[in-house]
Amino acid sequence: MKILIKGGRVIDPAQGIDQTMDLLIEEGRVARAGRNIEGGDAEIIDASGKVVAPGFLDIHVHLRDPGYEYKEDIVSGTRAAAAGGFTSVACMPNTSPFNDNKAITLYIRNKAKEEGSANVFPVASITKCLKGETLSEMGDLKAAGCIGFSDDGRPVASGEVMRRGMEYAKGFGMPIISHSEELSIVGDGVMNDGFIATELGLKGIPWVAETAAVARDVMLAEYTGARLHVCHISTRQSLEIIRNARKRGARITCEVTPHHFTLTEEAVRGYDTNTKMNPPLRGAEDVAAMKEGLADGTIDAIATDHAPHHYDEKNVEYNIAHNGIVGLETALPLTLRLVEEGVLSLRDAVARLTCGPARALGIPRGTLEEGSVADVTIFDPELEWTVDAAKFASKSRNTPFGGWKMKGAATHTILGGKIVYKRES
Ligand SMILES: [Zn+2]
Repeated sequence: MKILIKGGRVIDPAQGIDQTMDLLIEEGRVARAGRNIEGGDAEIIDASGKVVAPGFLDIHVHLRDPGYEYKEDIVSGTRAAAAGGFTSVACMPNTSPFNDNKAITLYIRNKAKEEGSANVFPVASITKCLKGETLSEMGDLKAAGCIGFSDDGRPVASGEVMRRGMEYAKGFGMPIISHSEELSIVGDGVMNDGFIATELGLKGIPWVAETAAVARDVMLAEYTGARLHVCHISTRQSLEIIRNARKRGARITCEVTPHHFTLTEEAVRGYDTNTKMNPPLRGAEDVAAMKEGLADGTIDAIATDHAPHHYDEKNVEYNIAHNGIVGLETALPLTLRLVEEGVLSLRDAVARLTCGPARALGIPRGTLEEGSVADVTIFDPELEWTVDAAKFASKSRNTPFGGWKMKGAATHTILGGKIVYKRES
């Protein structure tokens, strides 16, 4: 099976390429990029006016499978990924049972391979049952195919347990992925602490609940020499700590979600529970800092923290609604808004969705280099559409972006040389 993608703007930041040309895919691999390639009997995709990029990676996704298939499963979640232009996702271990053992890891990998529309790279837990007490069998989990360790959804409360987790992870050459949150400071807060929380009568979560935990884990990473990836940063103070640690040469990467660089706590007015997430939406200065961090490269990756929930789990009062929103199918146009605003070049925007996340977690994807696996995303940066959550490939509809006018969408998503998604025009 051959595919010839003709006349697109090929952007591959990993190779420093941004040029209009053709791309030939043969036997699941990138065979060649260049001008006027003859494809013979290849299937032709006309990509004129479109961008041809390495398949996007979302390194923070909750596929909810096993255990919560009423919210999402590996089939629907990877379909949502493909529709959003993502060919690879890393899925978090807070499933039921937890992904703290190789049987669950193998279940996820096999189901994804047989029925999925994207590569699924499982993240295993740091501690058994995400309890923060006993370390998981990291060696077994690595052998089963996990790519990193995280108790995402919960912090590892004990600094000593995290320190030992980092030492073991380092020994196995694997990153620790930190959900940084100091629960004793969070208390029963449900939104960003400040004037708006007071006005709305909601309990606040101060920035230091995140940043104190980021600081601890950054220090532990410097102390142990472990590789640390910090999840979903949302405060300017967290960013500053990571920026300084990197200047000192620490092996630290981080990610930001589209909602944290798009929305502020203002969105909580009206009590839409689709504005409730963890970490919470912050202030305008924090959003500005996230954009700066993306622009200067301190933030390596845009990751969605795709967190599907059932209607009934969101259609309740703000205080008791579940945290999180779906993100796979809105990430690309929200990222492209940063290009329109002049925050990022198109090339850097693509980098934060491809080689940035790939390098952060050591995933062998994110380039169109000759011979590499043909995971390719073709997108039309000008295509205008309106978000209708009812049309999501995801099983869940919990988005604060419903009705938003968007610009930019994936038109073809190619996984290992096969077209897994094609946008109907
Ligand atoms: Zn998290």
